[in-house]
Amino acid sequence: MSIYDQRDKPAYGLFKIEPDYAKNPHILKWWNLSLDELLATQISKWQWVWYWTITDEIIKITPPSTIEDWIKSDPLCSKYSWHNILMNFSSARAEQLGLTKSIRKPQKKKCPLCSNDFIEDSLPMPIIERLGIDRLDFCSPCLKDLIFQGSGKNTVSQKKIIKYIQDLVTLIGRVPPQNFGERVGDLLDLTNDERLALLQLFTKKPNEKSVKQKLGSWLNALIQAGVLEDGTRRASRGIQTIAKDGHICLSLGEKTIDEYLYSHGIFHEKEPRYPEGNFRADFKVGDTFIEYFGLTGNPEYDTKTKEKIHLCKKHNITLIAIYPEDLVSQKKLEDKLSILISNNDRTHS
Ligand SMILES: [Zn+2]
Repeated sequence: MSIYDQRDKPAYGLFKIEPDYAKNPHILKWWNLSLDELLATQISKWQWVWYWTITDEIIKITPPSTIEDWIKSDPLCSKYSWHNILMNFSSARAEQLGLTKSIRKPQKKKCPLCSNDFIEDSLPMPIIERLGIDRLDFCSPCLKDLIFQGSGKNTVSQKKIIKYIQDLVTLIGRVPPQNFGERVGDLLDLTNDERLALLQLFTKKPNEKSVKQKLGSWLNALIQAGVLEDGTRRASRGIQTIAKDGHICLSLGEKTIDEYLYSHGIFHEKEPRYPEGNFRADFKVGDTFIEYFGLTGNPEYDTKTKEKIHLCKKHNITLIAIYPEDLVSQKKLEDKLSILISNNDRTHS
């Protein structure tokens, strides 16, 4: 029995905080007002599990040399892990300042998936991170099988895998990576109804092995499910979709790219004209064109693709060509668009 299997007990035992921990002179030497504010912010953000992430947050806003000098000079650090020393100090400091008084009491709730009661603090940190502290609405025994890496069912028929993908696309409105639902941010922005629908769908999720056995690859599964088609064919039938930033997209592939750009704060124009010919690209970011070439294998389409690539070379336009296989994982899409992100960072700093 692990901490993931319980509903009625806190996942983490309370550890006793010695008030003396707050007196550490080696830490007080560099501790400042911003760090006290950080304690308050983290407590309001994470409530009873705030201390789990506090060390990482402290490091983010403290010069590395300050931390290094402290570790060298504090005799405690040669005996214990400095992470723990800093966490204990922070806990005692927060207590001393009265900040922990604002922590709310974990509530008893009913899990809509299994109808069992559970207390909010029975949820381990990885689940809290995925749901958000104010929306701890599902129990850990239900979630542990649905949203962690490698989850999914072993023997799922080809027909059911395809149905699963189509239902998933209907719910999330974009091309899903194979591990959709397993990443920390996947559930965060969804409404309660969307979460419930999605988690119910995850009970039918095929695992990687069964996708491989029945359909060869996730890419092939997406193709069989009909979600990777380019819009040029669909648009003629009037099927369009609107991305989160309001851009009209002609295919799910395009929409997936649009929302990626939007969520990374990358300003993008839709449908820029090529300098010659009667062509338009899917997106323009700075001077770079982005095209989603979703219909490869169709001769007419391939000719047009080649012509576009040729035009970009001729006019010195950087072209990021995205193909269906780039959409099967977040990592692949990220790799393709990574030039834009580093450029974007540079212009903002
Ligand atoms: Zn449950």
